[in-house]
Amino acid sequence: MAVDSAISSPLGPPACEKDAKALRFIEEMTRNADSVQERVLSDILTQNSQTEYLRRFKLNGVTDRDSFKSKLPVITYENLQPEIQRIANGDRSAILSAHPISEFLTSSGTSAGERKLMPTIKEELDRRQLLYSLLMPVMNLYVPGLDKGKGLYFLFVKSETRTPGGLLARPVLTSYYKSEHFKTRPYDPYNVYTSPNEAILCPDSFQSMYTQMLCGLQDRHQVLRVGAVFASGLLRAIRFLQLNWPQLSQDIETGTLNQKVTDPSLRECMGKILKPDPELARFVRHECSKESWEGIITRIWPNTKYLDVIVTGAMAQYIPTLDYYSGGLPKACTMYASSECYFGLNLNPMCKPSEVSYTIMPNMAYFEFLPHDPNSAGFTRDSPPKLVDLVDVEIGKEYELVITTYAGLCRYRVGDILRVTGFHNSAPQFHFVRRKNVLLSIDSDKTDEAELQKAVENASRLLREFNTSVVEYTSYADTKTIPGHYVIYWELLVKDAANSPTDDVLKQCCLAMEESMNSVYRQGRVADNSIGPLEIRVVKNGTFEELMDYAISRGASINQYKVPRCVNFTPIMELLDSRVVSTHFSPALPHWTPERRR
Ligand code: AMP
Repeated sequence: MAVDSAISSPLGPPACEKDAKALRFIEEMTRNADSVQERVLSDILTQNSQTEYLRRFKLNGVTDRDSFKSKLPVITYENLQPEIQRIANGDRSAILSAHPISEFLTSSGTSAGERKLMPTIKEELDRRQLLYSLLMPVMNLYVPGLDKGKGLYFLFVKSETRTPGGLLARPVLTSYYKSEHFKTRPYDPYNVYTSPNEAILCPDSFQSMYTQMLCGLQDRHQVLRVGAVFASGLLRAIRFLQLNWPQLSQDIETGTLNQKVTDPSLRECMGKILKPDPELARFVRHECSKESWEGIITRIWPNTKYLDVIVTGAMAQYIPTLDYYSGGLPKACTMYASSECYFGLNLNPMCKPSEVSYTIMPNMAYFEFLPHDPNSAGFTRDSPPKLVDLVDVEIGKEYELVITTYAGLCRYRVGDILRVTGFHNSAPQFHFVRRKNVLLSIDSDKTDEAELQKAVENASRLLREFNTSVVEYTSYADTKTIPGHYVIYWELLVKDAANSPTDDVLKQCCLAMEESMNSVYRQGRVADNSIGPLEIRVVKNGTFEELMDYAISRGASINQYKVPRCVNFTPIMELLDSRVVSTHFSPALPHWTPERRR
């Protein structure tokens, strides 16, 4: 029931007093976006005025936007690497931030094959928590009654390491789930999860998934929303159910927990939750043993009102599969965030995925926007970029996001390209267009063109003794399999047909490519099981020439034609697949350990 209209919000009638406060906060921030931004920059520059970084650029204590923009360069991660390495090695002086660096957040963006290390400070946890606290109040405007049931969310922690200087390095969500903010969150009837903390916090991904699924099945009638952070994660959970429903239903029938779950605190916690329920076990067996899994989500969790998963950006490739398993339930993309900073939220979360726009919250950091011209080669020393402030972006234009954070990143290029779709009050709303330089992505992995090129080079060394070379290649992220996998099309030049590479050699080429991929890819393969074995499809000689002919027939210039290093246009896929002469899969897992190589 909505609270009385005296506290109604322009966004809609809040569901409760707490929501009213959150919606008022959103209104206040978005109405005063420019002054909030001015204050945020001034706060950051005041707080960090004595850091080595700001002193280097002789800001001399001034905090206004013009001085800041004229004195500080726009940078990328690579520019900051020396400072980050010093912090990682244990230098505790105020290099980037006046506040002590509390830990490193390991981004899924990589540098030289390893996850980028983002320094963070304690108070950033509060800022992230604040953004989280706005999500349900917005959702409650669109979906009533979420306090009458639970959310089945598949949430996981990942492995963490320590830097040589002793700081923790772990993904931002692992940091959040392990924080007191999450572990001791007050009871909120609108935000009750089926998964106990012990299951979410179990570092073993099988045990964690198994128990979260078990709890979700047991509470099946209470589940009102089903989610994971990214679409790929929810599909992995469905795949897990496909593989493990016999054991899960056995546990439900008897009220005992499978011996594969060994974590003592998890066993103890599940012991209190599990109750024998033969009727439910029969139901799960009946549904899961049907040949078709179409609509399985709504069959098992019939009261689900929406899926809570990000399906924007690289995750859009999973929309058809999610629709298949859920009978087309709405897919809510609630927030836009990164290891560097949490950016904003979707004020209309039940909209179609193609219409999702994120409203950047001006209190999170100081935001600038680098106009993005897809046809330009970039900016040069002689023509420095003209960055635009948050409130000055123009509808329809594309920009690269540049942030200045409390933790000490200054004018840092995030690498995301956003298009302005409108405004809420004076705060712009953005469609996530894409991340720069990402060719292939299945889960949180991001492989760029240079990485793919290197992987092909490394793998093709194995062909030398067969007097064979790779003359052309392209790639494709195949998400029809669960988990999805990389497909690399190779056209080979075999000089000695009597000694051509065998299936075994080409399998080893698949593995060699996987070994060359960045650590996020290898972690997805080894620890998270979120990426399947890489596949090489060898195509007939002349296939890539046909590809060029096709492109030219559709208007490409012969002089400027370049082989696309990634394809997903159906006619091109069909052409390539019709020319495949053999397929080969990686026969083993590549190497991966939580420790960084450098
Ligand atoms: P990470 O640093 O590993 O947390 O990755 C952050 C990146 O994930 C962002 O910079 C985006 O490229 C991507 N991302 C995060 N949220 C979204 C979203 N809602 N839609 C599309 N891409 C997103």
